[in-house]
Amino acid sequence: MKISVNKIPEGGMNLRFEKDWEWFRNFLSETEPSDFVLDRIAVACTVRRMKETVFIEGSAATTVEAPCSRCLTTAILPVRSSFKYTFSPPPDRPQEEWELSAEDLDFAYYEEDTIDLDPLIFEQIILQIPIKPLCTETCKGLCPHCGINMNVAGCRCETKSFDERLAALKQFKVQSEKQ
Ligand SMILES: [Zn+2]
Ligand SMILES: [Zn+2]
Repeated sequence: MKISVNKIPEGGMNLRFEKDWEWFRNFLSETEPSDFVLDRIAVACTVRRMKETVFIEGSAATTVEAPCSRCLTTAILPVRSSFKYTFSPPPDRPQEEWELSAEDLDFAYYEEDTIDLDPLIFEQIILQIPIKPLCTETCKGLCPHCGINMNVAGCRCETKSFDERLAALKQFKVQSEKQ
C-alpha cells in the first residue's frame, strides 16, 4: 500500500486494506523457512498531514497458525499490533547523515512524495509472532520418555521412573543394613 503524500486530504483520511499470506511470505527471507502460516492481515489506519510531515496511526491484525512448541499440535493464536509512525521528507543533508538519525523505529523519511506502508506492516506483524508458540498457556507438552501428548492422555513413565528410584533406594538400605 503506497500513499502519495500530496493526495492526503486536509482533514486526513482513513485507510482499510488487507494483505494475504503470499504477500507476507515474500518479505520473509527464503533461507529461513518459516513453520507458521498467517491468515489474512487486516490493516486499519488514519493518515494525517501537517505540511510535509505525515502521521500514521493504526493497527494490523491476523491469526497465526504454528506448531505448539511443547506438544507440536497446531496452535492458532491472534496477532495484533498497534502502531504510530511519523514521516518527513529527508533533510537537506548528505544521505549518510540522515540515515543514522532515521534509526528510530517510529520515525522515517519518505522520498519522492511516497510512503510505502508494506514494510511497516510486515515489521509490525513479524514482531508479534511468538518465538515459542503455545496451544494453551498450560500445555503439558510431550512425555520426554514415550512421546505421548500429555494433554490428551497420561502415561506411567513418571511414576515408573519414580518406582525404579524407590526400588534402588530400598536395595541400598537393605545392603547397608546387612553390613
Ligand atoms: Zn501444546
Ligand atoms: Zn511417557
